[in-house]
Amino acid sequence: MKLKIAIQKSGRLHDDSIKLLKECGIDINNGVNKLKTEAANFPLEVFFLRDDDIPQYIEDGVADIGIVGENVVLEKQKQVNIVQKLGFGKCRLSMAVEKSVDYTSVKDLQNKRIATSYPVIVEEFLQQHGIKAEIHEISGSVEIAPGIGLADAICDLVSSGSTLFMNGLKEVETVLKSEAVLAACHNLQPEQQLLLDKLLFRIQAVRKAKNNKYILLNAPNDKLNEIIGLLPGMKSPTVLPLAESGWSSVHAVLNENDFWDIIESLKAAGAEGILVVPIEKMVI
Ligand code: ATP
Ligand code: MG
Repeated sequence: MKLKIAIQKSGRLHDDSIKLLKECGIDINNGVNKLKTEAANFPLEVFFLRDDDIPQYIEDGVADIGIVGENVVLEKQKQVNIVQKLGFGKCRLSMAVEKSVDYTSVKDLQNKRIATSYPVIVEEFLQQHGIKAEIHEISGSVEIAPGIGLADAICDLVSSGSTLFMNGLKEVETVLKSEAVLAACHNLQPEQQLLLDKLLFRIQAVRKAKNNKYILLNAPNDKLNEIIGLLPGMKSPTVLPLAESGWSSVHAVLNENDFWDIIESLKAAGAEGILVVPIEKMVI
C-alpha cells in the first residue's frame, strides 16, 4: 500500500515541494518530463500535475494528498481537507487598478469590470462587501487587462508587487492571503491515513526546526540566574560548567520571532560568545 501525493509538475511550488519531501527524508527521483515516480525509502507515489488539477484529483481519490496553493483549493471548491500549512508559496490575491485611478474604498469597484483567474473567490469577496461588478475570467496575463481596455481592475496573485508596478498598476485591496498547503482526500483508507500521519509528523518536525534556532552562550556564574530567566528553552536551558571556573555554558532553543530581542537582552545581561545554530529536525 502506497500513499499517492500530487505535486506541481513545474512552476513556483515544484522545487519547494520536492525540497520539503527531501527534508522529510524522502528521496524521490525527479527525472525531467516524468509524470509519476516512486520514493525509494517511503511508501509514496508522486504524481506531477498542473496545480489547477490537483484539488480534483484529491477529491476523486486518484491522489490521496497533494501540495497546492490555498488559493487554488478555495477557487476550485473541491471537497478536500487542508491538513497542514507549509510555509512556502506565500502570496496574496489582490485587487489592483491603474496608478492614475483615484481609489478610496471597495465601493469604487461598484459596476466596474474586474479581470481575474479567480472568479469564485472574487465573487465571494464582492458579495461580502455588497458590491456588484462584472467579472471577466481570463486564464493568464491578467495584469495587461486594464491597459488594453478589457477591465477597470484586476484581481491577481501578488508576492512582491513588482509585476503590478511594471504594468502601471497599484494594489488596492487584499482579497486573500495564501500559501502552499497539504490537502488530503476526505475518505482515506486507514492504511493511508497512517502513512499520512507519519508524513505529517515529519513535516511538523521540519517546520518547527525552521522556526527555531539553537543558541549556545557563555555566562558568568553570578549572572546565570538572570540569563536563564531570559531563555524559554524546550524544558529549561541546559547549563554546563566551563573549564574556566566561574563561567558556565548555556544552551537553549529560541523561536525565530523573539530571537533578536532575546539576544540583545542576553548580551546586556553579560552573556558572551553567543553562537546561533540552525536546527535540522525538532521533535517535541
Ligand atoms: P501550472 O502550470 O501548474 O498550472 P501556474 O502557472 O498556474 O502553474 P504558478 O505561477 O507556478 O502556477 O504558481 C503556483 C502557485 O504558487 C500559485 O497558485 C500560488 O499559490 C503560488 N504563488 C506564490 N507567489 C506567487 C506569485 N507571485 N504569483 C503567482 N503565484 C504565486
Ligand atoms: Mg495553474
